[in-house]
Amino acid sequence: MNPILNLARPDILSLQPYQHAAWEPTLERMHANEMPWRAEGDRTEAGLNRYPEPQPDVLIHHLAKLYGVAPKNVLAGRGSDEGIDLLVRAFCRAGIDNVLICPPTFGMYKVSARIQGAGVIEVPLVKERGFELDVQAVLAACRENVKLVFVCTPNNPTGNLLDRASIELLCAQLSNKALVVVDEAYIEFAGVPSMAQDLERFPNLVILRTLSKAYALAGARCGALLADEDIVGLLARVITPYALPTQTIDSVLNFTDEAHVAESKQRIELILSERARLAGRLATLPLIRQVWPSNSNFILVDCMDADAVLRATIEAGLIIRDPRSQPGLSTCLRISVGTPEQNDRLVHGVARASGAAA
Ligand code: PMP
Repeated sequence: MNPILNLARPDILSLQPYQHAAWEPTLERMHANEMPWRAEGDRTEAGLNRYPEPQPDVLIHHLAKLYGVAPKNVLAGRGSDEGIDLLVRAFCRAGIDNVLICPPTFGMYKVSARIQGAGVIEVPLVKERGFELDVQAVLAACRENVKLVFVCTPNNPTGNLLDRASIELLCAQLSNKALVVVDEAYIEFAGVPSMAQDLERFPNLVILRTLSKAYALAGARCGALLADEDIVGLLARVITPYALPTQTIDSVLNFTDEAHVAESKQRIELILSERARLAGRLATLPLIRQVWPSNSNFILVDCMDADAVLRATIEAGLIIRDPRSQPGLSTCLRISVGTPEQNDRLVHGVARASGAAA
């Protein structure tokens, strides 16, 4: 057994999981209290009258291939949000254990921890070094009851990749002490390899991938948690019994085949060229103080007057993200790269508000 499981909540380790209806596709189902007929017009592959296969074999093999790992290392869930939630629930005892996050960062790590009653230790990214990880400060803050260290690379909302050697150092130094959860939601936009290849080297490494971004499937709600098989096995005992809806399974299989992967790669290229164009034009506008470099499909901008920029985008019929409550971002806004037309409209709107020509 992976010794890292010793960090899990004892009551989860000894939990007798729910015994869902056995998955026996060669037999006709009279064991799950389902209706024996489909609803009129139900054209799904498996039939919506039937509970879906928990952790469907075909989907797990498909995701394993997509992410370059073995099927035993994959847990599929409803977005990577579910992976975050499962980790916190399985590893953190309410009122005793903590997660460590590096703000400014993705908000769900903290929210999931709070829902579970876990503590949240914050070790900010170093703004002066382009929002880089402060490895020594993270290690110093990892006392006994820090069970999960979340690092997001590229980081949301700052957009930068974190130093890979620093993350490897965290994994090595925290082996048997904490799980290092590397959220790679935006990695496809960064042009660097995933850390999935390091799973064998680091039994305490967990990687979160999502189909919501590069594969244009945010509405399908599917993400993959990649980890040592013992961690995957533990979380599979905690996940809700039939987590993945039939339509989700169908959509992921249909829309991440070879042709769609090729389409996604082309669209990523367009997003990257639009990112450069948008960043270049925004940087010239008087209302924008600084455009932070991005390795993602969004850009963080530091504004002279963020309220004026927000008003200008709304007037242009566009909504952007206001992350100003996060540490270090009191004058910043986050803009997702859109279509060329949307990006033009945004630049013109902000230029007009700046009194500048776009
Ligand atoms: N991680 C990061 C860094 C994100 O930005 C998001 C969504 N904005 C998620 C995870 C969750 O994505 P999903 O649940 O759609 O997979």
